[in-house]
Amino acid sequence: MKTVGIIGGGQLGMMLAEEIHNEGGRAICLDPNPKCPASYVCDDIVVSEYSDIEGLKKLGDMSDVLTYEFENVPSEQLKYLLDTYNIPQGIQPLFDSQNRIREKMNANNNGLKTPKFMAINSLDDLYKGIKEIGFPCVYKTTTMGYDGHGQVMLKSDEDISMVFPYLKGEGILEEFIKFDFETSVIMVRSKDQIISFPMGVNKHKHGILDLCIVDKQTEIFNKIQDAAKKFMENCGYLGILCVEIFVKGDDFYFNEMAPRPHNSGHYTIEGCNTNQYRELARFLLGKRLEEPKLLGPTVMKNILGFDYENMKKLNDSSDVHIHDYNKKDIREKRKMAHITFTNTTEAMYKEKYENLFAREE
Ligand code: AMP
Repeated sequence: MKTVGIIGGGQLGMMLAEEIHNEGGRAICLDPNPKCPASYVCDDIVVSEYSDIEGLKKLGDMSDVLTYEFENVPSEQLKYLLDTYNIPQGIQPLFDSQNRIREKMNANNNGLKTPKFMAINSLDDLYKGIKEIGFPCVYKTTTMGYDGHGQVMLKSDEDISMVFPYLKGEGILEEFIKFDFETSVIMVRSKDQIISFPMGVNKHKHGILDLCIVDKQTEIFNKIQDAAKKFMENCGYLGILCVEIFVKGDDFYFNEMAPRPHNSGHYTIEGCNTNQYRELARFLLGKRLEEPKLLGPTVMKNILGFDYENMKKLNDSSDVHIHDYNKKDIREKRKMAHITFTNTTEAMYKEKYENLFAREE
């Protein structure tokens, strides 16, 4: 029986561990928190900081295969592990995704268009960038940004001073895309197969994914899937990759990518014949991949701390699937759980459930 070591023990690691078990493997996670979500499912846990090489080596020694479930694992440490342990996904996609400038240059070089962007290292750069790109535009820190952290929206000269506190570090200025909607494509690639999951519309609140609405697969989704698969192949990436996209008319723009399971793919657990965690588990265990298909209209709602009490008013039923991550510390914007509503269109979700989670933006 093969053992998969997962660096990180959050909810993504928890759902991956469940599928590793279903596929006949063992799962161990590494996390600083002994009561992390994956600890309740894994066969063992190494309690360690992600940057602690001794902890990472311990995980490596206990595992046949290593993977990661979040992006900010220091790549220097992983580079060291790569020589000694089996990391089938390698570290290139992680390295490429860890810096927004590197990430966007890599997308452009491998066939995916991005919003216009410029590197910002000084006030002078910022003024030049605004002149080149124009308002509205978005300033982001190049590293450690997620869920809208470290971002400033610039609509006019008056907003420029909001960027000043960030100018000590490296940043990126991006053209603001007035998109019609956001979407994401999740792919798994092995040496001789590449699969991609059905796509939907991603809606954010407070810069955090709130809803994924997955229904009919339209022409634009097919176009994005084709381009994203070519991108993954051109880059030579293996394993799982999520690419986040802005769609505007017939055009689409790469926003960012994550070489791990993604919360926009939670819906696949009940919404598809196979799911992102299972296919990653199959890749890690060296099994053949299965082509995903949508079973029916599906809506996934992320449950943040705000929503957690209201979630308890719902009961699991054949079309309401509640996934509680068992986090003890409830914070307003912390991802606490998610619910997948199967056989549910957007209109049905609005009619039956939206009110339960209504709150001010
Ligand atoms: P990010 O952390 O880059 O995924 O940004 C968080 C959210 O901010 C995205 O999901 C979009 O809703 C919005 N956003 C970020 N960058 C842009 C952009 N260049 N144009 C329009 N919206 C953006």
